[in-house]
Amino acid sequence: MTKVRTRFAPSPTGRMHVGNLRTALYAYLIAKHEKGDFILRIEDTDQERFTEGALEIIYHTLEETKLEHDEGPDKDGGVGPYVQSDRNKEGIYEKYAKQLIDSGHAYYCFCDKERLESLKTQVSDGGVEIVMYDKHCSKLSKEEIEKNLAEGKPHVVRINMPTEGTTVFHDEIYGDIEVPNNELDDMILMKSDGYPTYNFANVIDDHLMGITHVVRGNEYLSSAPKYNQLYQAFDWEVPTYVHCPLITDENHKKLSKRLGHSSYEDLVEAGFVTEAIVNYVALLGWSPSDNQEIFSLDELVEAFDYRHMSKSPAVFDMVKLKWMNGEY
Ligand code: GLU
Ligand code: ZN
Repeated sequence: MTKVRTRFAPSPTGRMHVGNLRTALYAYLIAKHEKGDFILRIEDTDQERFTEGALEIIYHTLEETKLEHDEGPDKDGGVGPYVQSDRNKEGIYEKYAKQLIDSGHAYYCFCDKERLESLKTQVSDGGVEIVMYDKHCSKLSKEEIEKNLAEGKPHVVRINMPTEGTTVFHDEIYGDIEVPNNELDDMILMKSDGYPTYNFANVIDDHLMGITHVVRGNEYLSSAPKYNQLYQAFDWEVPTYVHCPLITDENHKKLSKRLGHSSYEDLVEAGFVTEAIVNYVALLGWSPSDNQEIFSLDELVEAFDYRHMSKSPAVFDMVKLKWMNGEY
């Protein structure tokens, strides 16, 4: 049997939201339950969204919660995380983008801002919000492409999505989901600044790192068909998807910053101990098979089974967290 390998792949864009902590925890538990590997990968190729201090928060939170990763490049004599901006310098993503261009699964797009803006108006006239790229540059001749490249014209690389048929993907929690291919946008793989998009680097690295179970928030559920198209283009095996349910407040609204308990640091500042937070977060979307409620991290490793996760939104219940914190 292949060794189970999971990863936590945060983008350093802010504080460690409770949902991020849960994703990290579930990925860790799935790996450790099967004596597998847990990998930490920093997805920082979107330089515009980078937030000062966010990396430190990620490292600090994982250290405090004892979600230790298993491998990575050498760093200060220890095991560092994989960092996508470093990997980009090695030309990894560019190499795979070229491979897709050569096989006809991707193409250079030279459209400027104005042209892309005009596509937007066309679409919103019809009252539809989603802006799909119109495949204009997939029809350029070889000569035009070479001329543009030789002139150093700014460009991105887009995937060439099929326009017929459907894409079916399976999620362990949400089941089978089928999407018509003509609803899949020719998303950008490589940006004009030479960095891969999050979508592209994520798939490349999940494959190269041998990730068997992709654990992420359900906000990524709608992107999964696009990822499957990438796997197909490369003829790579699709990993097992485990999308975690939404976390809401007591009023069934998306957990918001305003409530002051949306991130790990907020909870620590509010006086909750790390063990109670981890214990509580583990139960946000997963139910143990017996009625046990208090778990140490080792006990969670022992008991956790993603097949017992729920797809209904998990309600963040402050009263229960306080109880776990020993306040009652
Ligand atoms: N970089 C993405 C994020 O921070 C990760 C999503 C995933 O786990 O695939 O949300
Ligand atoms: Zn174009």
